[in-house]
Amino acid sequence: MKTIFEKSNNVDGINVCGDDVVQTTAIAQEYLRETEIGLPQMSELEVLRHYKALSDRNFCVETGMYPLGSCTMKYNPKVNELLANLEGFTSLHPLQSDEESQGTLELMYNLQEQLKVITGMDAVTLQPAAGAHGEFTGMLIIKKYFEKLGETRKKVIVPDSAHGTNPASANMAGFEIVQVKSNAKGQVDIEDLKTLLDKDVAAIMMTNPNTVGIFEEQVLEISRLMHENGSLLYYDGANLNAVMGYTNPAIMGFDVCHINLHKTFSTPHGGGGPGAGPVGVVDRLKAFLPKPTIEFDGEKYYRNYDMPDSIGKVRSFYGNFGVLVRAYAYILMMGKNLKNASEDAVLNANYLKERLKRAYNIAYSEKCMHEFVINGEKQKESGASTLHIAKRLMDYEIHPPTVYFPLIVHEAIMIEPTESESKERLDRFAEVMLKIADEAETNPELVVSAPHNTPVKKVDETTAARRPDLRYTVEKENSNNGKKE
Ligand SMILES: *Cc1c(COP(=O)(O)O)cnc(C)c1O
Repeated sequence: MKTIFEKSNNVDGINVCGDDVVQTTAIAQEYLRETEIGLPQMSELEVLRHYKALSDRNFCVETGMYPLGSCTMKYNPKVNELLANLEGFTSLHPLQSDEESQGTLELMYNLQEQLKVITGMDAVTLQPAAGAHGEFTGMLIIKKYFEKLGETRKKVIVPDSAHGTNPASANMAGFEIVQVKSNAKGQVDIEDLKTLLDKDVAAIMMTNPNTVGIFEEQVLEISRLMHENGSLLYYDGANLNAVMGYTNPAIMGFDVCHINLHKTFSTPHGGGGPGAGPVGVVDRLKAFLPKPTIEFDGEKYYRNYDMPDSIGKVRSFYGNFGVLVRAYAYILMMGKNLKNASEDAVLNANYLKERLKRAYNIAYSEKCMHEFVINGEKQKESGASTLHIAKRLMDYEIHPPTVYFPLIVHEAIMIEPTESESKERLDRFAEVMLKIADEAETNPELVVSAPHNTPVKKVDETTAARRPDLRYTVEKENSNNGKKE
């Protein structure tokens, strides 16, 4: 598809000022541009057609199913967008006084309170901008806690199935990473954990359910062992829709957790869009939270900067406020039904797992939570690997699941249908997956050479990763605007 610069046909678009309006500017004459900027010129209709065609080449949750494991690509109610865009919110400057920002502070305070109920934690900060940022914040809090105790614990234990951001965040905060093995059930191997515990261990970072979608049955035993060792427990709550309303990190014995509002509490986040990774802590860690916290004195909401032990600020201003509005709206909208979201997420995942088991190896046979892992080992025997299966799905207008993660499962395909898909959609996904398994056996070339129906066909993945060429060069003769490249 041509760029809009190439399509430009020098038809004047609209000029809202009209030619006879003298345009004034605050910029001194000497700095004003003397030549044309070279923007494309087309009619309004052609501009619309161009961008509509571009957007049609994209894939989003409004296009079709997006079962990307660990990412929770669920439906994000559109009314959230309307609320986040209310002028009272968008026109407020973050440096305006507490008195002038009461409604906004109230919203933030109430959201903190709701997240306290959902996670069971004693205090919450809304500042971190995403999940990984929340992990980093949590790790800094843990570090400060031990500093205050006069202890120098250097190690953080991370399961071998962990999301990659876990070891990365702990490492960035200055900890050494120690890996604990998973057992045959896909859960933390307690015997291995015991051998790793000493006075140098600051914390363990866990996801529960973990990244293979399995609930860690021995989590209470793990929390007992860790606390006995004087260590803390960090909970990666990125995918809270697996357990929300049924249990929470506090009940499981965790001391710090983060939540991904953009996943569980509905903000569109494909392509790295805005996020929020609030962090909750138990009482003894409260003093170390980033400042300011949002407080209420019974009459007024206010920003509390009087926190001498705080780790400081982790982000400019108070977090990604628009995401906080969406999460608040979602929680109020769902009310008690938040629990049903978890129930449906788990039901949908188990339903799909049962339907796929006929054709694919299931990595762990246990009941899964919000997601599950299959592998493409059987299909690979006839030549079509996990990567090919993922690409072939695109031909059926389904976004590929997460592949080759977690690392402990060979040829992994990690599927998270989320709670917002209907039974009809789940059935179609299952049928397509079974069809692809069949194709892999009878006509592997069709799968290996996929995708066939997408705007961009098979790409060279290695070169794309190692030598990304992101520059688009316009062929001279196609250009109406000679000087672009
Ligand atoms: C998505 C995810 C993260 C990272 O969250 P970001 O907002 O992308 O930084 C961490 N852990 C788990 C389990 C996740 O699914």
